[in-house]
Amino acid sequence: MEDIIGIISRSYKSYASSVWETITHPFGDYNYFTLLILVSLAVWGLELAFPWRKKQRAIRKDFWIDAFYMFFNFYIFNLIIFIALSNTTAHLFSNLMVVIGLPEKNVFDLSGWNPWLQFIVFFLIADFIQWSVHNLLHRVPWLWKFHKVHHSVTEMGFAAHLRYHFMENVFYKTTLYIFLGYLFNFNLEYAFFLHAGTILIGHINHANVGWDYGPFKYVLNNPKMHIWHHAKNLPESHPKGMNFGISLSIWDYIFRTNYIPSSGRDIPLGFENIEEYPRNFMQQQLEAFKTEK
Ligand SMILES: [Zn+2]
Ligand SMILES: [Zn+2]
Repeated sequence: MEDIIGIISRSYKSYASSVWETITHPFGDYNYFTLLILVSLAVWGLELAFPWRKKQRAIRKDFWIDAFYMFFNFYIFNLIIFIALSNTTAHLFSNLMVVIGLPEKNVFDLSGWNPWLQFIVFFLIADFIQWSVHNLLHRVPWLWKFHKVHHSVTEMGFAAHLRYHFMENVFYKTTLYIFLGYLFNFNLEYAFFLHAGTILIGHINHANVGWDYGPFKYVLNNPKMHIWHHAKNLPESHPKGMNFGISLSIWDYIFRTNYIPSSGRDIPLGFENIEEYPRNFMQQQLEAFKTEK
């Protein structure tokens, strides 16, 4: 027990000092706070310069609630729960593996590989794991209740990217830890750029721009594809949803979960009975924990 308390307190101390560093040096190396603001402003600028739905307002419906979600999921959640949770989970998981008789961690050591090759392999595995988790969020009823927050956006814009229930952090990061952190050992020199790239792609996927990158649409997820993921009315061929891609679209094409029947520019977004879904942050967080009446 004492080592767990030690892990928690060390985790908070190092997180607190990195947050302080981030605030006091906004233009220091690898500043995530500045990154989030710059990427958001850039993609917002693209929406305003090349709007797909021309009548959509610059400050669209739910813009501010989504902006809050963005900082909550990026920072506040980490500060409150995740820092302690992730390091203790990793510690307990390693202990459990040893008890079972498996290696403590890092079954496959790729840390000596060429840095670019490590970068690409890490990105591909991480993206596929997230695609798989996203599928489960749609197919398992109690997980869908948490994921509904993300699908409660009815007017799409870049900030909807990080509108999701805080438990999604737990689902995604635990799975990523088990399959990437435990199984593999990477030495990622370019992790910051990986993060920057995925935030940029995710923001653009939700932005009010009508892009699909031509032939690259079969590899890269894009706004014209992701809008169908948010469709309110699901087709008979895909009753649990479609286009589950995070950064890459290739998994949907491989596993036949792709669906873009026409331009999705003006399709209704959300889910059945969305009119009854709560509209504010706190109620949306609590709604997922309620049992069915
Ligand atoms: Zn989804
Ligand atoms: Zn989305």
